Amino acid sequence: MQYDFGEFRDLAFFSWQVPVYGFKWDDESVPPKRIVHGIEEKISQKEYVSSPLLVENPETIIEMSYFPFEDCPTLFLQFADTETTLDGIIAFANKFGKLWTNHGFLLNVEEIIFMPSVEISSKEEQYKLIFPTSKEKKYSYIIGEPFSYWATEIKLMKNATRLWGWLQNEEVGKLSQVINWYDNGGGFNVALGELDNIKLFRKLPKEEQRFCFDYDISFRDYNRTNSKHIMESTKPGEILLPARIALIDIINKKLEQSPVHHRILLDEKNEPKQYVVPDNLLSAMWFQFYQSLTGEKKYKRCAVCQLWENVTEKRTDWLYHNSCGNTFRVRKSRGIRDILKNKKSIEEVASHCGVSPKLVREWLELEKKGD
Ligand SMILES: [Zn+2]
Repeated sequence: MQYDFGEFRDLAFFSWQVPVYGFKWDDESVPPKRIVHGIEEKISQKEYVSSPLLVENPETIIEMSYFPFEDCPTLFLQFADTETTLDGIIAFANKFGKLWTNHGFLLNVEEIIFMPSVEISSKEEQYKLIFPTSKEKKYSYIIGEPFSYWATEIKLMKNATRLWGWLQNEEVGKLSQVINWYDNGGGFNVALGELDNIKLFRKLPKEEQRFCFDYDISFRDYNRTNSKHIMESTKPGEILLPARIALIDIINKKLEQSPVHHRILLDEKNEPKQYVVPDNLLSAMWFQFYQSLTGEKKYKRCAVCQLWENVTEKRTDWLYHNSCGNTFRVRKSRGIRDILKNKKSIEEVASHCGVSPKLVREWLELEKKGD
């Protein structure tokens, strides 16, 4: 459904700003304060300040705004695909803006003369908008967002979306590297990161598997003491349910840290409608993820070109774009032939075709039946 509120749309819908001249990395400024989700903290002289900081180019006066939910419904997936390099992050920020409004290091405070309030010209229009009221702003805080904050957030989103992908394809082989039950069945731990790193990490003796920093792994532990209910609802050795629990745990924690707020908006018939306003771009992206996971919106990566596609209205077994169909069919028939000739394993063909080993096994069954 499209609302048409004209100039009110800017206020009623969640929009986000991108400076026209983009961002740069600043590794020279000495910030006087740290801002932790809006709360100012003094920095002592000896304290280490995470550097470099992402800041707007100084000549930036004009900002463009866009609507993350309407304009980029798969932004969380693009964020997960962002390279955790200086260039990768700048490229994302130049397109979609900062992650927060009030989190990072304070570099400067600039006075802003006046932010125009919206004039409502008729009573009818007034009814259409019951939030928010525009406020006069007197100061603008110039806040630099550290590279390390960005890298941490990208990795978390990468780990979570990767886990989600494996769960959707029920890739038990990969997930059994992620989920590891303790021998006594009293709990399990979850290791998230690149699959190759997880494999190396899992080769370590069990007692050393807590030292995950060398492998760039995020590690979580679920046991009877910290997660009694989870232990009651899972069976030792189970893989899929613990993996699903770990995923929703990540999303719930992120939604708690950077929340969305519920508001009411009157539609064109003056009927109240639910509307969600995120705190910032990061919370908007985790909210997109939440919607995708609960099935309100569905996305899949094309098996061939690897781009994300909105498949909410498509068949549940959608695999690739029409334009990618030929490439897919060639890969599939060569793959089946190579497996039958023992030239390639099922896993190799599955990975080359961008599908699950389970699906390749189904192809082989059909192929054998066809003979
Ligand atoms: Zn494609």
